[in-house]
Amino acid sequence: METNIAGEKVFYVDYTWPELDALDRAGTVLVLPSGAVEEHGAHLTLANDSTAAAEVALRAAREIPGVIVMPCLWYTPSLDTSNYMGTISIRPTNFVNYVCDILESLYRHGFRQLVVANVHGGAKTVLDVAIREFHHRMGNAERAYNDDFFIHLHNVYAVPADYLNTLVEGRESGHACELETSVDMYLFPERVQPEKAVEEYIPWEEGFEWYIGDMHAVNRNGVHGDATKASAEKGEKVVNALVSALADILRKLVEGHTWA
Ligand SMILES: [Zn+2]
Repeated sequence: METNIAGEKVFYVDYTWPELDALDRAGTVLVLPSGAVEEHGAHLTLANDSTAAAEVALRAAREIPGVIVMPCLWYTPSLDTSNYMGTISIRPTNFVNYVCDILESLYRHGFRQLVVANVHGGAKTVLDVAIREFHHRMGNAERAYNDDFFIHLHNVYAVPADYLNTLVEGRESGHACELETSVDMYLFPERVQPEKAVEEYIPWEEGFEWYIGDMHAVNRNGVHGDATKASAEKGEKVVNALVSALADILRKLVEGHTWA
């Protein structure tokens, strides 16, 4: 059973209900890892985003007493890669309701601080909507916004992006790429088939934001980036940056950070 440096259980589901009942829940910070069941080229497994999200959350939480890690959201929206074999995509409206139900349960149980640690680009905007929808639903006649439950969306790769870009040797990175492949080579080498790694990009034009459309129609392998440039050494640097960015936020919340 995973424990933190103070010897406390790290995983939410490792607690019994009386143990959770005895916790200072309002003072606890929850982390909800969010990944995907999605194609990641021919060289990585469908699990990439979920296993990375769960592992980064665990590594950050182990160092900070007062943090508990929720089970990862594996099934998330992955519309763009839906036409590759194996991808499971949850439509945005279902996902928003699903996430709101999780948040409502936690709120009723007395938890008041949660960080979503999201690895999957396709879920970013929908998670943002889910959190906004939750606050709408929790509002009442007096107040439009329920700020009694602090929910922070932390996009794991986005925060240390400037540093991560310094590690990228290929033209760009984005999906099943140099960074994601390096992460798996470091964390779960048995999940990588490096001989199948390729350099491939989604065609899009300067000035446009991330491609939204059928990736399968414009991309053979399901890769955006140069996965051949990946290495375990690079993966260790990436993982350390992801863990320390998340840990910084968790530490601030545990120490009683407020925006006021
Ligand atoms: Zn990914």
